Parts: sequence; C-alpha cells; structure tokens
Amino acid sequence: MSRLLIISNRLPVSVTRQADSLSFQPSVGGVATGIASLEEPKQRLWFGWPGIASDRLSSEHKHQIAEGVQEHGCKPVFLTSAEVRDFYFGFANRTIWPLFHYFSHYTVFDESYWRAYKKVNEHFCREIMPQIKLGDKIWVHDYQLMLLPGMLRAKRPEAHIGFFLHIPFPSFELLRLLPWRRELLEGILGADLVGFHEYEYVRHFLSSVYRISDYEPHLSQLMVQNRLVRVDAFPMGIDYHRFAESSRRPEVTKEIKKIHHPAGQRMIISVDRLDYTKGILKRLEAYDWFLRQYPEYREKVSLVVVAVPSRTKVDVYNELREQIERMIGHINGEYGTLDWTPVSYLYRSLPFEKLTALYAVADVALITPLRDGMNLVAKEFVACQQDKNHPGVLILSEMAGAASELAEAIVINPHDKESIASALRQALEMPQAERLKRNRMMQERLRRYTVARWAGDFLQSLEQVKTKQHIHGPAPLTGAVRKKLLSEYSAAEQRLILLDYDGTLVSYVKQPEDAMPDTTLLGTLQSLLADQANTIIIISGRDRDTLTQWFGNLKMTLIAEHGAYMRDESGVWNAQVKPDNEWKEIIRPMLELYVDRTPGAFIEEKTFSLVWHCRKSEPDLANLRTQELKDALMAMTANLNIGVFEGAKIVEVKHIGVNKGQAVLPWVSRQQWPFIFVAGDDYTDEDMFAVMPENAFTCKIGPGPSRAQYRLNTVGDFRELLTAMADLKPKPKPQQ
Ligand code: UDP
Repeated sequence: MSRLLIISNRLPVSVTRQADSLSFQPSVGGVATGIASLEEPKQRLWFGWPGIASDRLSSEHKHQIAEGVQEHGCKPVFLTSAEVRDFYFGFANRTIWPLFHYFSHYTVFDESYWRAYKKVNEHFCREIMPQIKLGDKIWVHDYQLMLLPGMLRAKRPEAHIGFFLHIPFPSFELLRLLPWRRELLEGILGADLVGFHEYEYVRHFLSSVYRISDYEPHLSQLMVQNRLVRVDAFPMGIDYHRFAESSRRPEVTKEIKKIHHPAGQRMIISVDRLDYTKGILKRLEAYDWFLRQYPEYREKVSLVVVAVPSRTKVDVYNELREQIERMIGHINGEYGTLDWTPVSYLYRSLPFEKLTALYAVADVALITPLRDGMNLVAKEFVACQQDKNHPGVLILSEMAGAASELAEAIVINPHDKESIASALRQALEMPQAERLKRNRMMQERLRRYTVARWAGDFLQSLEQVKTKQHIHGPAPLTGAVRKKLLSEYSAAEQRLILLDYDGTLVSYVKQPEDAMPDTTLLGTLQSLLADQANTIIIISGRDRDTLTQWFGNLKMTLIAEHGAYMRDESGVWNAQVKPDNEWKEIIRPMLELYVDRTPGAFIEEKTFSLVWHCRKSEPDLANLRTQELKDALMAMTANLNIGVFEGAKIVEVKHIGVNKGQAVLPWVSRQQWPFIFVAGDDYTDEDMFAVMPENAFTCKIGPGPSRAQYRLNTVGDFRELLTAMADLKPKPKPQQ
C-alpha cells in the first residue's frame, strides 16, 4: 500500500525539555492540519528536525525523542547546533529568506552557509532513503530543503516526489544574484510536481529555469532528463470551520472586548511574526499618519499589535524589534491621553482561542506585508467574521499571495502611507451591509478551498504527473534498450545511420559558425565510416559550403539545407529540387524589420530558405517576437508555395517541397536494411522520424514531444552512444 512521506525542516510536534524530562506537543500548523484531513494515503510518516540541537542531547534523550515523536507518526532528523546555526539561521534565514522576499540588501552570501545547507540536505536524504518503499509519495516542503528533491531523485529515479515552496519565488533579476542559483533550481527540479502559492511565483520559477538551467518550459511543463515535470499554483487554504467555530465562542470574545475594546472605541488589529517582510514598521508609520491626517479618530480607535517573536538569533530581527518598540512609544507619547492608548503591544504568541477571539472582535485587520508568500492571518481573520451584526473589514497588502484570492478586501500598497490611512478611514466608515457582502464572498472561497482541499489537490496532481510521465513521449535510450540497439548494430550486415548535425552531434552555440565539429567527433565518424557495413549520412539545415568545409574530407554522403542538396561519396553536390526563390525578396524586408526590433537577432540565407535567428536575444523578447513574426509571415505567405516553421530559436521560411523526410526516403527504400538508426533534435527531424520503417531506431535528442521512439537528453549522451557503436568491432569487408 502506498504511503505518504512528508519532509519539512521542523516536525509538527514540538519537543520541550524541562530538567531531564521531555514532553511532546503536536502543533496544529496549516500543513499538518491539511494532511491530517486527507483520506488517502492512510499511512503517513513525517520527517523533520525535532527542534533541539543533537549535541545538547544524550543518546538516551535521542532515543526518547525518536520514540516520543513516533507516536505522532514522525521520525526525527537530528541536527547539531553548528548545523542549525549555519544551515537554518545561516543559509535558510540569512540568504534565501531575505532574497526570496526581495530584501537583497539583507542577503548574506556566505560559502560556509551554503556548504552547511548542502550538508544538511544530504543528511535529510540519507535519513529518508532507507525508509522509502516502492510506490511511496514523497512530499518535500519549503525553502530549507530545496536541494532534497534532486538528491532523492538521483538515488531513486522512479520515486514520486512533490515539492512545495511556502514563500514567494522571486523574479529572475533577484535569483540571479545567488551564486548557487543553478544548484537550487536543479534541486527543486528533482521533484515531479513543483507547487507554489501563486501563479506569479510559477511564472518567475519557469522563467528562471529557462534562463539559468536551459530547460524549455511548454506551458507549465518541462522535460528534465527524460522526466516530465509539472509546475503549478496551489494556493494554501486554512481549516475554515475550525476558525469559524472558534470565533463563535462568546466567553473569550467578551473577555477580549473588555480588555482591548472599551465601549465606543473601534479596534484595529495587526498580527504577524515579528519579521521585516511583514511591514510592521511601515504599518505603524501609516497609523501615525492616519492619526495626524484624521484627528477626529483620536480616542475613537486603538491599534492592537501582536508581534510573535521569531528568529531572535538573527541580528536584523532584534534591530527591527527595537525600531518597532520605539515607534510604538513615539505614537503613544505623541497622541495618547490618560484615558486612551493609541497602540497596545503584545510581543508574544497568542493561543488559538485568544487569537480567534481577537480576530472576531476586531473592526479592522490591517495586514500590510512588504512581501508574503501567502499570509494565512488574512484568511483566518476573514473566517472569523461570523457575527452578522459586527462584520470586520480586511485591509490587505497587494504584496501578499493571499491578495489574489481575497479581492474583496481593501487592497493597498504597503509603502503608500497615504493610501493606507485612507483605507483605514474607508474601513471604519464602511456600511455594515457592504462589509457583510464582502466578507461573505471571501468566506465562500475560503470554505471551498480549505487546507484539506489544497493538500488533496497537490497529491492528486502528483499522481497525474506520474501517470502522464509513463505515457509521455519517447522512452529513454538507456539500459536494456541501449543494449538491444548495440547488439542489433553488431549483428547487422548492412546499416543505415542518419544523423542531424546541430543539437545532435554538437551543441547549440550563440554564433552558428562556431559550431564546427571537434576532432573527437571527426574521429568517431571516421571509425564508423571505416566499417564497410555502415552507410552514414549527415543531414542538416546547413548550407553546402559549410558542410563541405567541415566534412569535405570524409568519404560520406552529406545532405544540405534539409534536403535541397546532396553530396555523394565522390564529393559532387546535386540540387534535389529546382530553385524558385522569387518569394525571398517579398519576405526579406519583414525579416529585416524583426531583426531591427530584436537586439541579437540576425538573418541567415540558404539556397531554399531564409532563417531568422534569435538565440542571442533576451529570451522573453525572443519568444514574443517569434510569435509576432510567425503571425506576420503566415499572412504574407498564404498564396506562396512556401512554409513558415518555428524551430529551436529560429523562424524559417522555406520552399515547401524540401524536407528531411523526402530527402532520406530514397535511402530508406533502397534496400531492406537490417539496422537503421536516425537521430535528430528539432522539428525538421520529425519529418525523418515520420518516414522510418518499424524496425528503425529513432532517437530524439533533448526535451519536448517527438515522434521518435527513444530519447537521449543531451548531445553528450548521444556522442557517448556513437562512440560505443564505433568501438564495436568493424564487420570484415565482404569477399570480392
Ligand atoms: N499565529 C499564532 N499565534 C499568534 C499569531 C499568529 O499561532 O499569536 C499563527 C496564525 O494563526 C497563522 C500563523 O501564525 O496561522 C502565521 O501564518 P502567516 O502565513 O500569516 O505568516 P508566516 O508566519 O507563515 O510568515
């Protein structure tokens, strides 16, 4: 039976030690609640750090912790205090956290933090590996463990792995600052499904993957070493009913009202961890501004600030605490009276019942993070607005992931104190009917997309990706298939080998003329050609001159310009179709226009085609211009005997009668070949794959859909296979 293995930095059980005894308290965080309410899979095991450094624990204590958390379905991953310092307070919270929240000026780039991060991710991997059983679903959580999916994948290629990031994923401009950006992306891409709270983060992630790792996303999917990976948004919800129910408890609400809500006064609340991303200081500045701009509200409102202590071992958090407390002192000193304190301040975490009561009695929740992956407090506040006679108003920052779901809130820019002040006024003056209406609409959404739905949706999507992986595209040309290919190669008396050039025998480079064959490749081809059983043809989009220059010395057939010209072994080129190029002068000005509009683009002219290249251009602009150019060309070529094709970073306009399939057909049908091998990487090679007989080995190089039966990921993999073929003993020359 399949199980769910959840892996997060912290376990959902807090372990506390008093004197020599340990106690275990399950924590009801969002993820734990979501997973607890899942119907399937029934068996679950949660891995994470229990919260006490291992060098402060005796082996007896460790044993007790392992047993104690086991009762809650958990397995501890112990970390030393040095690991906690450099991995958790270091790389996770001094590097990733600030950078991913757009606080690049707080980001520390420290090689020793990075080493600790890698080491701890490896440590998690080692602890989990022996526990994985066939069919288990593995769900890795958050920014502390971004390398783990890749590490697990390397050891378990078939595993079902999901990864969810609970914080924002920043734009490429931020991520590129990180020296270890490629490793992090590769780590995350070890998962089959990558989830974020918001579509914005999906977009940023895919764009970074495209620019940094060279995998090309198609919609929200990409091929990573023959594996389909899906990237999607799953906005995390809350346990709606738990909050709604709790807010209806009159005794607690009454008590809170008495303390913080004297008759006739309106209450604004501010609830967060004390973190610079939450915008608490700016919020206080805006409240100060509000009291200055609208003095009529003095003594009529009060702001209750709940700041939950967080990461107190990181300096900037302590500095921020001082600044906040100074600011609160300033506001209270400036506006307070003997009967009225403008700001009440609690530096602590409130228990659940008190928190929901506070949400319920508040008139306004002022939630203004400068950047926030989701912000659950906003959702929890809305869920607690169950009193029809007293509906509160949510003011929410547009920088919180939750803002896209809670559109009926008053949405503000957290840097704009003027608009926060007027939002406060709008909230305090909003008619009851409108407050009710807005809350109802938001509540409806929160009731439907709960944290249980979120967890269920994520795991279901993971299953779907796994199913799709098995039916998607060419199979890897590795293991048994590779063995079969080499043994059929060995056994065959006659072989036809058709090879594309760019992207197959050599990698793409920014300047096409730089992609000349290296001596190793020429050596491999020479060895293959030395075997009399082999007929080897290079079939390329390149022109005759280039192919002559590069392969002129080899005694082999060359096909240029996708089949327009063929050179036989004697070295003579022959045109395969009659040139008819009047169309070029009609099309050329359009291509030139798109060269001018796209820095880095250029035109290549071939006998039968014109090619617009954009490999050197900025990727997003290149994509946009490619689509625009294709549309423009389609309209222009409707009545001409030419076609418009989009390839790897090119748009090619060419004579319709010329394609690689037509070009190789006479060779394929020349005799009954016992062995045919065809390799190519782009759309022009699909025409070859389409005309091959059943027994042919067709191989696509690189990602993306294909008609080919098999796939190899990289030019390197393919060259390695060619070398293996060349190393097999040549067939003796046939007897004369
Ligand atoms: N919270 C709490 N006690 C408090 C204040 C907040 O338990 O006194 C909880 C709150 O219910 C919410 C979480 O802390 O679930 C904060 O989550 P959020 O997504 O808003 O921010 P994060 O701290 O994850 O950045």
